Formats: sequence, structure tokens, C-alpha cells
Amino acid sequence: MEKEIGSYLESLLPASSGFAEKLEKYAEVNHVPIIHRSSMHLLHLMLMMKQPENILEVGTAIGYSALRMLEGAENADITTIEKDDKRYHEAITNIGEQKRDKQIKVLLGDAAEVMQELAEKKKQFDVIFIDAAKGQYQTYFDLADKMLMPGGILITDNVLFRGLVYSNEEVPKKYRTLVRKLKAYNEMLMNHPGYHTSIIPIDDGVSVSYKKQSM
Ligand code: SAH
Ligand code: MG
Repeated sequence: MEKEIGSYLESLLPASSGFAEKLEKYAEVNHVPIIHRSSMHLLHLMLMMKQPENILEVGTAIGYSALRMLEGAENADITTIEKDDKRYHEAITNIGEQKRDKQIKVLLGDAAEVMQELAEKKKQFDVIFIDAAKGQYQTYFDLADKMLMPGGILITDNVLFRGLVYSNEEVPKKYRTLVRKLKAYNEMLMNHPGYHTSIIPIDDGVSVSYKKQSM
């Protein structure tokens, strides 16, 4: 059923072309977990409405989502963090090929550590996209909260993790800790007095949180 809705919604999307199509194919062949197409489309919507000056992305992979975010926010500056050396270099190459290296800054390192450094430098962002280690989402949120402007938007990918987060079926042992953490993360976000959050059940689950201006 859900799969049917997913395929239907995806069939309504414009076909990917150019670098997006190329990177989607590369990611599929090389098992790089880039954002799904319907979720990317939702990000575009958020970015078009928000028109952010600065975006922080946690989890670059090969630069696919960072590059595509510019379709929704043409003039934004993006800072993105990746800990894997190979992917970091692939992202640099892909971003360079699209001549976006002035707009997208890729930082190599552990996301929590790099975010801590950015927070200490009092960096502020209008949009933060969390898409790295799912077991670390709470840590990323705590750091993101320090850097997200009031009125800003926090987007988190994979919050329903393969349906395991809401399924009544037994979760395979290897995913139990992760699923427990994601459940706690979703509950925290939904109940946070400083944010208004909606979890969108497309693809792997995307949550969108608006940071209230005043409390
Ligand atoms: N946002 C990308 C996909 C990111 S996939 C896109 O949609 O195109 C998640 C990435 O997070 C992986 O490349 C992985 O190497 C990276 N990652 C995992 N743990 C991390 C950590 N602790 N610090 C920084 N990056 C991490
Ligand atoms: Mg993801």
C-alpha cells in the first residue's frame, strides 16, 4: 500500500536530468544513500518558501542534496559536513564540476565535532538539514538548536527508517537501538515547545520543524 502511494507520487515528479540524474545513477550503483526524490522535492518547496541565506547540511555524501538544494534556494550559501574521506572528495569534485564551490563549503570531519566548532564561532543558519548518523540525531539537534535562527526550519531525513519506527512487527536485533533512538527523537521533536513539527510519511520519512519566533 505505502509502496503504491510512493510510486504514484514519484511518477508525478519531473524526471531528473543533468547532474542530478548522473549522481542518482552513481549513488544507486555505488550504494550511496542519497535523499529520495519525493523528499528532495519537499525540500525544494520548503526552500522556495523560506528563501534562506544560509543552510547547514549534516551529512554531505557525494554532494547530491547540497547541489540540488540550490534549485530551491538559488542564492543560498551552504555549509555541509561529511566524515568519510572518499565521499568528501567526491563531493568536492561534483560541486566543482557544477561551479558551485564558492556557494557550497564542504567540511571534513565528525558532524558533532564540526557543529560544536561552528556553534562556538556563533554561526547562524536559516535552514538546517540533518542527514548523517541516525543514532546521533539528538546530539545534532541540540547543536543545531543553538545555530538555527528563530523562524528557521530544521529538516531531518529518515525519521521513519524503513517503516521500522512505526511498524508493529518485531524490529531486527541489529536495528533495535537505532529504532529506539529515532522514536525518542521523533517524540522529542513533536513535543518540543520551541518548535512546530510535522513528520511527512514519504520515502524514508522526513520531519519538518519550524523554530518558533518567540515562546
Ligand atoms: N545528504 C546526502 C546524503 C547523506 S548520506 C544526500 O542526500 O545527497 C549520510 C552521510 O553521512 C554519509 O555519507 C556518511 O558518511 C555521513 N556520516 C555518517 N556519520 C557521520 C558523522 N558522524 N559525521 C559526519 N558525517 C557522517
Ligand atoms: Mg537520508
